[in-house]
Amino acid sequence: MKKFFAAIIALVVLATVTAFAESITNFSVSKYVGNAKTKKFHYVDCSMVDKMNPANKVFMSSREEAINAGYVPCKRCKP
Ligand SMILES: [Zn+2]
Repeated sequence: MKKFFAAIIALVVLATVTAFAESITNFSVSKYVGNAKTKKFHYVDCSMVDKMNPANKVFMSSREEAINAGYVPCKRCKP
């Protein structure tokens, strides 16, 4: 019975670690963040991104993707 619980715990830990690793991968792929409201896009480390409403954040992996979606580069971080 102890082995059964150990196996369950191992599976839960593995699933958590996998989900965590995937979220990190997704974050590193998104180099740019667009603001759906102002239609401007920024580097993810731009100070404007911290002030942005999370509901308006649109993550993008390339500059072309942002421009094709009608976004304008931020004047502060110049992405
Ligand atoms: Zn910016």
